[in-house]
Amino acid sequence: MSAQILSGKIFASEFKEEAKKQVLALKEQYNITPGLAVIIVGENPASKVYVNNKHRTCEEVGIYSEVISMPADTTKEQLIAKIDELNYRQEIHGILVQLPLPEAIAKEEADILNAICPLKDVDGFHPVNVGKLMIGQDDGMIPCTPYGCLKMLQSAKINIDGAHAVIVGRSNIVGKPMGQLLLAQNATVTICHSHTHNLKEICRSADILVAAVGRPHFITADMIKPGATVIDVGINRIAPKKLVGDVDFDNAVEVAGAITPVPGGVGLLTIAMLMQNTINAAKLQLAK
Ligand code: NDP
Repeated sequence: MSAQILSGKIFASEFKEEAKKQVLALKEQYNITPGLAVIIVGENPASKVYVNNKHRTCEEVGIYSEVISMPADTTKEQLIAKIDELNYRQEIHGILVQLPLPEAIAKEEADILNAICPLKDVDGFHPVNVGKLMIGQDDGMIPCTPYGCLKMLQSAKINIDGAHAVIVGRSNIVGKPMGQLLLAQNATVTICHSHTHNLKEICRSADILVAAVGRPHFITADMIKPGATVIDVGINRIAPKKLVGDVDFDNAVEVAGAITPVPGGVGLLTIAMLMQNTINAAKLQLAK
């Protein structure tokens, strides 16, 4: 029997509707409009598309959005000065620096991202927010992609409590925060990486399998426990107009109980959660 398809389109529109309601409530109760500033440095065409999508989604949800374009030869100091300016602007509740940065400042990425005030860090990459997630303090910012995966699992009523969740990939933006989020929901979590032995057996023991590897069709049907929930975070371009995930979807769909497609899956949730994080940031700043 074919798996239930967890459509990112449906969940993303549900999350955006929720976001719209919260934006209206903030306006009505406190006369506040959440504001997001996105800084883009240089001319990376893919980054421009992402930034435009973020801007459009802000407009759709009712969030004030500012896109700040800086030239490719911007120095670390200039970029940090701009971030600092935004840190002090009251109508800006969230600040996002679009990655990747141009090569000349890419190695300074950590210093640059750490310059964002943790209360405005809507990407959830600041060490203060990483720490809050780790110790289960709920007043931090959660990285958008794993946050979206968790919200989708909850919305789809997939049981997490007591489930064995296996995450393949240990990056700071997906794998590790995904593990922390599922652990906080009482899953038993295993995080795998390129040095993991017996990957296939470990994956086959998963009730929830999250693939965040960045390799096309890496997770094959024989690595999936029948009936398991499979979340495919991977986005891999295998031809100019063809994107595939980390999971061999066509075969996996016959084994899994529920599965996200690529495209049309997790990717759509990320921007929706950026909206939620901007709202969360506005609420946190209001409370301070
Ligand atoms: P990274 O490259 O930072 O991390 C990949 C992880 O996969 C690493 O931990 C690596 O292990 C592990 N890995 C690589 N090869 C193997 C292997 N043979 N066996 C087991 N583990 C392996 O990637 P990201 O986490 O940033 O992204 C992962 C994927 O998700 C990409 O396709 C990316 O495009 C996509 N993505 C999608 C988003 C969305 O919005 N849907 C957002 C962010 C990412 P090790 O640490 O040992 O090197």
